Amino acid sequence: MTSKTFQDLIEEVHNKGICQECGGCVSFCSSAEYDVIGFKDPYSPPEYKHKDKCLECGICYYICPQTHILDSELNKTYKFSDFESMPIGHYERVYSCQAKDKEFLEYGTDGGVVNSIINFLIEQKLIDGAVVSQTDAPFSREATFADSKYDLLKASGAKLDISPQLDEIQKFCTYTQSIPKLNHYKFKKLAVVGTPCQIYTIRCMQDLGVTPSENIEICLGLFCYENFFFQKFQVEKFEKDFNIKFADIEKINIKEDLIFKLKNGGSGAKVVHVPFNYLNDYMRPACNACSDFTNIYADISFGGLGSQDKYTTVIPRTKMGKHILQRVIDAGIIKCSDIDSNKMNKTIEKLANFSHSKVKRRETFMKKLELGGV
Ligand SMILES: Cc1cc2nc3c(=O)[nH]c(=O)nc-3n(C[C@H](O)[C@H](O)[C@H](O)COP(=O)(O)OP(=O)(O)OC[C@H]3O[C@@H](n4cnc5c(N)ncnc54)[C@H](O)[C@@H]3O)c2cc1C
Ligand code: SF4
Ligand code: SF4
Ligand code: SF4
Repeated sequence: MTSKTFQDLIEEVHNKGICQECGGCVSFCSSAEYDVIGFKDPYSPPEYKHKDKCLECGICYYICPQTHILDSELNKTYKFSDFESMPIGHYERVYSCQAKDKEFLEYGTDGGVVNSIINFLIEQKLIDGAVVSQTDAPFSREATFADSKYDLLKASGAKLDISPQLDEIQKFCTYTQSIPKLNHYKFKKLAVVGTPCQIYTIRCMQDLGVTPSENIEICLGLFCYENFFFQKFQVEKFEKDFNIKFADIEKINIKEDLIFKLKNGGSGAKVVHVPFNYLNDYMRPACNACSDFTNIYADISFGGLGSQDKYTTVIPRTKMGKHILQRVIDAGIIKCSDIDSNKMNKTIEKLANFSHSKVKRRETFMKKLELGGV
């Protein structure tokens, strides 16, 4: 390895505005106890805190999802070639599943499948717990550790009255800073839930055999088209643009668009769909520089797209992912809807279209960036 440092990340990633704030670099550097870099706040790229102490090990550079140094290694391991020929990554079958547990289903984002699998893994003592994301308010999440069904349900915001908290929140972001949180639990066996950028950095750490990836037993990847960030002063504009009061939002689902479920009918309709392209003012700019929609390096990927309401689309990818999914199905923890090859092909086509659209968005964005136009 050449001696790349965090300074190279600043120049090649941060200064171009494409840091995805995945936290991989910070997580490794502080976990290895170098503690040279850190986040000043969770809504901007990390910074060099103690440049003089940097060991120039280069790891932060190699595990960054925006340098793509380890792409070919990961592609070999996860049987991926390119998005043109494999738009949704490696898979044998795509499922549409639902939790059998009433509470996981009721409070789940889609079919409550991710939480059901985590809970099963905890009960079977295959993991000690998982770093998940606590919903504090609409567009506001925080990383937290869950090692019981109670914790998993609490994190889903199920029994939370979020309205009183709205005044206290100054910045709203759907992205969860969960990777640096792994450092607190590195002596436990963990499941990690994450977006494609987060799973990518973990897979790079595992490929290089560096901390804190050693105890991650399984990567549960979420589909991700983009994430949203805005400051309090923009809430008013958002409410006006979409005729949705924040206090009325009961739940947000992300599928082929954003789906807002409103309390008591809110501003008229009970369910409001907002297409992604109406939300450009609120999108995290670095998401433009990202091409993976279906989380191609996860053990199992999950999303709402392609499934009916209250079901989750599930793509097992690795040997471990397939094994766990089969065990969960056999144990009667989740059920799968009958999906014939015709239905499955339709789902795959939908996923592939979103994947192609994301790849195209990145190409256009990167071209503009090269020309200095972003
Ligand atoms: C930011 C984001 C963007 C998404 N974009 C899309 C999209 O464009 N299209 C699409 O079809 N699906 C998208 N999804 C996936 C979808 O919203 C559901 O998460 C997925 O279908 C699983 O649903 P479920 O009911 O099975 O999960 P549940 O059983 O509800 O469990 C979800 C679990 O994931 C945890 N979690 C969520 N986000 C994180 C995180 N970042 N870090 C750690 N833990 C986390 C929750 O705390 C919970 O434990 C996105 C999800 C997220 C979080
Ligand atoms: S010590 Fe290594 S990981 Fe930390 S900032 Fe320096 S080069 Fe990056
Ligand atoms: S590793 Fe993640 S947080 Fe660090 S510079 Fe790269 S994208 Fe940003
Ligand atoms: S689109 Fe999703 S995976 Fe890509 S950078 Fe944004 S949050 Fe990460």
